[in-house]
Amino acid sequence: MAECNHPDLTWRSVSDQREALDEAAWVCLNCDAVLGFCPDLDRSHTEIKTHCILLDFHESKLIYVSNGITGLVIAENVAARCHEQNRYDQWSILAFILDDPNLNTHGKFWQDKAREQLPRRD
Ligand SMILES: [Zn+2]
Repeated sequence: MAECNHPDLTWRSVSDQREALDEAAWVCLNCDAVLGFCPDLDRSHTEIKTHCILLDFHESKLIYVSNGITGLVIAENVAARCHEQNRYDQWSILAFILDDPNLNTHGKFWQDKAREQLPRRD
């Protein structure tokens, strides 16, 4: 049997196989091997990591990404910030996602909405 050279990768941030935020969530989609902590993949496949984390965040309903194109744009922006700051960990990626200009209007929206509603309660 030929050894898999792991051509298709994913980042499983939300996996019950994980016990900690140990940056070891690279998985091969072809052979299912858990590749562990791979700083080389963090750098060469950054957009896969940022996109997977974004999707997990979206699926948990902690954030909402309105469509696939927006998701790809955010993943690309966040990957660029990872390269700029030389930070590729999941925690920094979450912070970069929340800070992305495509998403950071959420707080303002709900602040305004609350202002509209609160006076009516008196
Ligand atoms: Zn493989």
